[in-house]
Amino acid sequence: MNLYRGCTHNCAYCDGRAEGYYVDGEFGTEVAVKVNAPEILARELDPRKKRKPLEQGFILVGGGVGDSYQPVEGKYELTKRALETIYEHGFPVHMLTKSNLIKRDIDILKRINEQSKVIVSYSFSSVDDKTSSIFEPGVPLPSERLETLALFKKHGITCGMFLLPVIPFITDAPEKIEQSINEASRVGLDFVIFGGMTLKSGRQKTHFTNVLKEHYPKLLSEYENLYTWDRWGNAKAEYYSSLNHVFNIIAKKYKMPRRIPIGLFQHVLSDNDLVVVILEQLDYFLKSEGKTSPYSYAAYSVSRLKEPLDTMRNSLRKLKGVGPTTERIILEILRTRKSSYHQQLAQG
Ligand code: SF4
Repeated sequence: MNLYRGCTHNCAYCDGRAEGYYVDGEFGTEVAVKVNAPEILARELDPRKKRKPLEQGFILVGGGVGDSYQPVEGKYELTKRALETIYEHGFPVHMLTKSNLIKRDIDILKRINEQSKVIVSYSFSSVDDKTSSIFEPGVPLPSERLETLALFKKHGITCGMFLLPVIPFITDAPEKIEQSINEASRVGLDFVIFGGMTLKSGRQKTHFTNVLKEHYPKLLSEYENLYTWDRWGNAKAEYYSSLNHVFNIIAKKYKMPRRIPIGLFQHVLSDNDLVVVILEQLDYFLKSEGKTSPYSYAAYSVSRLKEPLDTMRNSLRKLKGVGPTTERIILEILRTRKSSYHQQLAQG
């Protein structure tokens, strides 16, 4: 859920300000508040108001175009009200933020955790306080974010780090990535999700370039060469491959899961959804090692199915993208609710 559009956290690299998201106004200073979101959510989650009640599943309270705990939440309390509704209807939640205002809601989060499950994730571009104060001017320092994660861990809540995005030439060096994973490990986090930065021409590029000009002017030409300036804001493919390679080595060294461990949310997954998640994770593990993978297409085919996979045990090969190997993996999941191949790749 994006409860707000626009974000006064004003991170220099935020792609929420890119034109493609249609956020009106000045991104870092003006925020649209979805004042009726809690009422809409209550209607959506209430099984008496739906012909087909919503299936169980984690609700992600995050915000690609606005942090759900940015300062304006202190006044409007949309996130807090959303959590109360989620608790009332028994859904699990995954919170993703950079703000310590989440501590205000620790009691309701603990109640949801006891009832269904809560995951609290914070995003970071590094754990370096000095760099963060340049690129993430409106949020607590990484050291303070880590302290909050430690607090949630102390209360028995699953916590993760989204090390995303690492900033090219500034926080993407192997030693910086290792510093972040080391801290994640020290605090006892349950996973680290990793990714490089995208940079789209237009408002995102203009804003980011202004920050670079002020603090790292020598890097301007490096960025011009690194990015392809396609519509998705991608850097050159080799760059992401080498970043993933470095991340994989370090994460394995610290035995840090690179995806959210399935055991943490398996209880809300139907057989079909479990197969999709495992195939998607296999796809991630293989591609992040620079290998090809047939699993994404198969995952997509399964995700489109209306009938339970269990009723199709003898005709799995009719699904697009499912060959003999994928068929074996799916049958193993239907039999045991896990995949030995997935366990092998997850552990590296
Ligand atoms: S906190 Fe998230 S949504 Fe807000 S500016 Fe930073 S990256 Fe963008």
